[in-house]
Amino acid sequence: MIKTIISSELPVGEHFLVRKNVLRNGKNNKRICIVTGTHGDELEGQMVCFELCRRIQKNIDMLDGTVEIYPSLNPLGIDSLQRGFPNFDLDMNRIFPGVPQGTMVEQAAHKIVEDLKGADMVIDIHSSNLYLRECPQVRINVLHEDWLVPYAQHLNLDFIGFIMRQLCWSQHWPTR
Ligand SMILES: [Zn+2]
Repeated sequence: MIKTIISSELPVGEHFLVRKNVLRNGKNNKRICIVTGTHGDELEGQMVCFELCRRIQKNIDMLDGTVEIYPSLNPLGIDSLQRGFPNFDLDMNRIFPGVPQGTMVEQAAHKIVEDLKGADMVIDIHSSNLYLRECPQVRINVLHEDWLVPYAQHLNLDFIGFIMRQLCWSQHWPTR
C-alpha cells in the first residue's frame, strides 16, 4: 500500500512528493522502516528498496509485522543528482528532526520524523557517490550499541562504526 507523507506543489510546475510503501502481514505489531534518498547523489538505496520490496512481496507469507519503505526522502535532489535539497543549499541529513514552522525542507524533515515515530527500528541507507568510494559499513549510535550491534551483525558487513552524536529521533533531539 502506497502512502503519501508529503505532497506539495512547487512554483515551476514541479511536485514535491515523498511516499512510502507499507508492507504488512501477520499479527506481529513490530514495525521497521527503511529510508533512503536523503542525499540525491547516492542512488544505490533506491535499488535496495526496489529489490527489498520485490522480495517481500514475493514472499509476503513469511513476513510477520510491518515493513515501511521510504525510497526517496529528497526526490528533487535525486531528480537532479544533487546531494542536498536543490535551491535551498541544505544537506537534509543535517536538519532532522526538522521544524514544523521552518522552511519547506525543515517542514519536510519534520513530517518525515513524525511519520517514523513509533517504529521499532529505522535503517537509513546511504552510499558512495560519483566522487567517493567507501567500504560497505553500518554506523550506529554508540548510545544504543548494546541492542543495535547484534542487529548490525546480521547485515553481514565487515565494518561497524559508531557515531557519538546525541541524535536519536526516538529519544534525544539535537541542539540547534
Ligand atoms: Zn548520504
